[in-house]
Amino acid sequence: MDWSSYLSRQLSERRDTSLWRQRQVNQKSDGRFLYATDGKYLNFSSNDYLGLSANPAIISAWQRGAEQYGVGSGGSGHITGYTKAHQLLEQQLADWLGYPKALLFISGYSANQGVIAALMTEQDRIIADRLSHASLMEAAMHSPAQLRRFLHNQPESLANLLATPCVGKTLVVTEGVFSMDGDCAPLADIHQQTRISGNWLMVDDAHGIGVCGEQGRGSCWQQGIKPEILIVTFGKAFGLSGAAVLCDEQAAEYLIQYARHLIYSTSMPPAQAQALSEAVRQIQSGDELRQRLQQNINYFRRQAQKLPFNLTDSITAIQPLIVSDNELSVSLSQYLQQKGIWVKAIRPPTVPPGSARLRITLTASHMPQDIDMLMEALHGFRS
Ligand SMILES: *Cc1c(COP(=O)(O)O)cnc(C)c1O
Repeated sequence: MDWSSYLSRQLSERRDTSLWRQRQVNQKSDGRFLYATDGKYLNFSSNDYLGLSANPAIISAWQRGAEQYGVGSGGSGHITGYTKAHQLLEQQLADWLGYPKALLFISGYSANQGVIAALMTEQDRIIADRLSHASLMEAAMHSPAQLRRFLHNQPESLANLLATPCVGKTLVVTEGVFSMDGDCAPLADIHQQTRISGNWLMVDDAHGIGVCGEQGRGSCWQQGIKPEILIVTFGKAFGLSGAAVLCDEQAAEYLIQYARHLIYSTSMPPAQAQALSEAVRQIQSGDELRQRLQQNINYFRRQAQKLPFNLTDSITAIQPLIVSDNELSVSLSQYLQQKGIWVKAIRPPTVPPGSARLRITLTASHMPQDIDMLMEALHGFRS
């Protein structure tokens, strides 16, 4: 078959399902507003939970970093791309989160791919929560290790799977806060099950770090566990991008030797590492921001009780309204857009069939009147 007919067949198959995805050009966005080409919208689709993407101290740290180091790192961390700024950030993250070591990656996606690819062999087994993020599931599916999934947030289901012996090592994988439902994993139970069977736990805390726990140390700190592998990402509450793996000395040394995403990829710009160091400080002293976020979450949930849609059990910044019907979720999102409100519909297969939703996220930058406007618009919707 020739290339063009292959591509056109694949594209038309996708266009016929409701899975067609489109990007849209925006001028910029922050935790409160999205500036599209046709005007300004209230932004309820942002992961910038603390509003740090526009924080002046972080912006200026990045600027100073660019002046000091230039704009790029010039190579992989194994060649020229590991600077004092990278080293300081790793040390700062390790101290803050109570781990011997932190290793920087350019994104959460590449951290998950790199760590799982490096750690797992064909004798091994990955047991993952079945609602784990695409970057984890895909890493597990590409890995030669066996993949098993446990029922979402059910440690008993995990225990059942762990009861079957495996010749090699077992890695249990979950998220701290689930990205589509906003619910928190029962990490203490999961870690307990994992440890009594002598195995390792990997927690991806992309949506918990910065927001949950004392000083924003995340879901694991909040629930009193220290998983053997902790992934934190900087694209959400940190307001930047990048990721880090927290682990012990031995695992870090192993990843430096074997994680191909570290070895064969240009490290993050040193200026970005410097900006991230400032973001860590802002997060550590960010109780007021976390308090504002919490007030917004509480206010939203109180008001949303009166809507004809179901809320989830989420107590986090991710507050989906379950609409169920795919088309309805899309028309609701379009209707809100006409009202100047930006909320995206999330449909299967990103979420389970019959659970199409508006994935509303709250941030510390929202004002109570923003939430009022959202509620007013939602009450006015007629399908
Ligand atoms: C966003 C996200 C990622 C990907 O992180 P990036 O840094 O954006 O690549 C990984 N895991 C989870 C749970 C996420 O929500």
